[in-house]
Amino acid sequence: MTRPTVYIIGAGLSGLAAAVALSERGWSIVVHEGARQAGGRCRSYHDATLDMMIDNGNHLLLSGNAAARAYCRRLGSEAQLVGPKEASFPFVDLADGATWTLRPNMGRIPWWIFRADRRVPGTKASDYLGLARLMRAGKSDTIASRMACAGPLYRALWQPLLLAALNTDPPESSAALAAAIIKETLAKGGAACRPLIAADGLGAAFVDPALRYLAAKGASLRFDHPLRRLKQENGAVQALEFSDETIALGPDDRVILAVPAPTAAALIPGLSAPTAFRSIVNAHFKMAPPKTLPPILGVIGATVEWIFAFPDRVSITISGADRLLDVPRDTLVATLWDDIQRATGITDPLPPWQIIREKRATFAATPEEDAKRPGTRSALTNLVLAGDWTDTGLPATIEGSIRSGNKAAAALAVG
Ligand SMILES: Cc1cc2nc3c(=O)[nH]c(=O)nc-3n(C[C@H](O)[C@H](O)[C@H](O)COP(=O)(O)OP(=O)(O)OC[C@H]3O[C@@H](n4cnc5c(N)ncnc54)[C@H](O)[C@@H]3O)c2cc1C
Repeated sequence: MTRPTVYIIGAGLSGLAAAVALSERGWSIVVHEGARQAGGRCRSYHDATLDMMIDNGNHLLLSGNAAARAYCRRLGSEAQLVGPKEASFPFVDLADGATWTLRPNMGRIPWWIFRADRRVPGTKASDYLGLARLMRAGKSDTIASRMACAGPLYRALWQPLLLAALNTDPPESSAALAAAIIKETLAKGGAACRPLIAADGLGAAFVDPALRYLAAKGASLRFDHPLRRLKQENGAVQALEFSDETIALGPDDRVILAVPAPTAAALIPGLSAPTAFRSIVNAHFKMAPPKTLPPILGVIGATVEWIFAFPDRVSITISGADRLLDVPRDTLVATLWDDIQRATGITDPLPPWQIIREKRATFAATPEEDAKRPGTRSALTNLVLAGDWTDTGLPATIEGSIRSGNKAAAALAVG
């Protein structure tokens, strides 16, 4: 007897998570990925300009990202996620040179807000209570309707943290998505918001171990094999059409569509999906960072928002960066290098560099776009959806995409 097959379309983290979750449940698994490599928006690659492996974007996780950590644990790569033992976020403000370290205490009771040496300079403990209104937000609320988007605490804490989490200007962002992130991290105390980064790159933490795991379980992966069309009849997928072949589905076969929102909407006419996106800009500078530079440094009052120190490079991230998409590369790199020098004290001339602008890095985390996100099940009886843009309750993040893959796998398990 042949086993029924699950065809997983897309080998980003949502597709990989679904494949890993299903790998021991008796299905034959075939993954079709349109690109030449797996990982999608979360990948490492060899950059020819720098002649080194880099990530398409610096990715930050928090220790409260339970699904992402469980996924790595299952693959044996959790040790790749590296961070301080306690939650600590050093910041520098380039407007006045002030430096501080935000240090939420480990337990759930947030006594850190009563300690001036742990909170944002110039703020009082009572300022932090404003968060309570945000935490009770409804699905249609923006952050601006639930929180004052001005003042020292907003500028030095909520603006940078929420922008990094939502990749959308906080005032227009969904308060419910912001609250969901905070509930799983900051509200659980410092133990759930230790920053974690993939020390040897995203590939080594999230992608390569999944490919090895799936190969060992007998799954097959086909790269450079984009799905062109879903042949539909009687409310179900009848066949998968690729440019070089058509695969007819058996009665017990299933499809997990784990492609980006615009591709899914093109493949399934009438599917509700986000249509507005925001970009992220990353830049990488090939040099050994100074020993005094922390692994992650938040920068306020500059174009650069976060500086990451890797052993062989200094990298920066700018979220919600649509305004920078058309800035000439030489002009942009001069601004970024100037910010880095002022934030870190580095005086070296500009080293070899690379700028990566991911135009559709994430869907815009506004209430309007959030309302368009579909659930796991689709109108097609034998197809389920996965991806960070499906209705995970979280913004577009690694945690959300892995959860969506797990949910898609669970939906198949219950038929
Ligand atoms: C620059 C950048 C920085 C980020 N920073 C963070 C961060 O700090 N923390 C965090 O948690 N998240 C971050 N994210 C978000 C995170 O990367 C994404 O949420 C996650 O990778 C999305 O995974 P996915 O599987 O849902 O989608 P994708 O990664 O988009 O995967 C979809 C896959 O489908 C493939 N595909 C497309 N069309 C077809 C087709 N027709 N047939 C077959 N395959 C197809 C694509 O090639 C791709 O591999 C960042 C994203 C970017 C771009």
